[in-house]
Amino acid sequence: MYLYNSASRKKELFVPNHPDIVKMYTCGPTVYHFAHIGNLRSYIMEDVLEKYLRFSGYNVKRVMNITDVGHLTSDADEGEDKMLKGAKREHKSVMEIAQFYTNAFFDDCRKLNIKRPDVVEPATNCIEDYIRIITKLMDDGYAYFAGGNVYFDTSKLERYYVFNDFNADDLDVGVREGVEEDTNKRNKNDFVLWFTKSKFEDQALKWDSPWGTGYPGWHIECSGISMKHLGEDLDIHCGGIDNAFPHHTNEIAQSESYLGHKWCNWWVHVLHLNTTSGKMSKSSGEFLTVKLLEEKGYDPLSYRFFCLQSHYRKALVFTWENLDNAQKAYGKLVSRLAGLKPDDGPVDEAALEQLLDRFRSAMDADLNTSLAVTALYDSLKAQTNDATKLNAIGEMDKVLGLELTEKAELKREEAKKAAQAASGNAGFTVIPEDGTEDATVTELLEMRQAAKKAKQYAQADAIREQLRGMGIEITDIPSGAKWKHI
Ligand code: AMP
Ligand code: ZN
Repeated sequence: MYLYNSASRKKELFVPNHPDIVKMYTCGPTVYHFAHIGNLRSYIMEDVLEKYLRFSGYNVKRVMNITDVGHLTSDADEGEDKMLKGAKREHKSVMEIAQFYTNAFFDDCRKLNIKRPDVVEPATNCIEDYIRIITKLMDDGYAYFAGGNVYFDTSKLERYYVFNDFNADDLDVGVREGVEEDTNKRNKNDFVLWFTKSKFEDQALKWDSPWGTGYPGWHIECSGISMKHLGEDLDIHCGGIDNAFPHHTNEIAQSESYLGHKWCNWWVHVLHLNTTSGKMSKSSGEFLTVKLLEEKGYDPLSYRFFCLQSHYRKALVFTWENLDNAQKAYGKLVSRLAGLKPDDGPVDEAALEQLLDRFRSAMDADLNTSLAVTALYDSLKAQTNDATKLNAIGEMDKVLGLELTEKAELKREEAKKAAQAASGNAGFTVIPEDGTEDATVTELLEMRQAAKKAKQYAQADAIREQLRGMGIEITDIPSGAKWKHI
């Protein structure tokens, strides 16, 4: 697979560091509010990446943090802790807020078919890990203590801006308009590793440390949690594009200074979901949630389908009209699958491989999900039997996660029930005593039942004879009919 690496700004052939495992880390949510569907675009695409790695035969260990402390309202270590802000808004404790929104996040993930990472670690669980890293950074001269806080000294690095060739002024987050500059910083991009002095004396969660009672900065969380569960190297680190700077840039600075070697090989960033008026964010007023989509009658998986139709490295514009189109297309796709006959013959292995090859080459080209969806549609038109088509689409859906097989099966069942109800056969069950279903026998028994209802007894007897001719004996029971091979 060729996967774009933000650090090299190139698509590179993916080769994991260790043959037996792919180590993958994802920046998790800050649990002070519901996730918006923009955040979830990032998690959907990261889920597709994980599932495709597994589909390709890799063993994956994926770790995600839950940010429940230290993420301030500005990424440049300014402002109030977001968790405290959420707690005040809802008159609850920080831990109550964290628990509630962590559960809400995983509920949304479940509805969107986003697999739970192998390890999910709240930031407040790993304070000792951050203290260990910061202590070494202090000892080695990469960090300094000033005005009550510990800062990382970015001037100690040969190359700080990893993801872009911008000059320092273009990335002037530390001195953003309206943000008070922190005069303790020696360099404007220095960032806090440990706070003991904050403008907000009511910070809820604090821990003892060699530098005084306080709390960790946001960036150190991801380095600490990743190293705790994945060791000293990483294959892939993911997040939304807004995380590239300063968050991921700072993660690299502190991790590599601590370790003394390269830390992570691939940096994968998902571009934003925008509204027609700009980036969707929690700070800019109203934001869309999975709950809202459901209230408006959308299947959350239509939103997943909408995301898959475009490439993760292109910004995606959300409009209700776009979502309507995705919902319709998704519904039609399920109906087309439901119209295929699952048992119309053996699977043609050669045809199946051909269909899967098209899917693989789309996904191998930097996870081109929109081409992969085209490969899925093309499978419907392929010159092969239905069983092969369904098999191919079922395999593709292990990665795309649209629950197509399950939904098509449900639709087939519903259609069968509706047909039974229309022919007066509602509640009529057919039980194969030998255990194996047979669609032809079921159909004949249903026809016989319909004939009996219509008082066409000669017709009903003829069907019984026909079945006997096929070597099948039937017994009427109160709920329907039983049958077995004679
Ligand atoms: P947060 O909960 O704010 O820490 O963000 C969780 C994830 O969502 C991070 O990976 C962000 O980079 C990502 N994210 C934030 N806004 C958007 C957006 N509008 N579109 C896509 N991803 C986003
Ligand atoms: Zn992170």
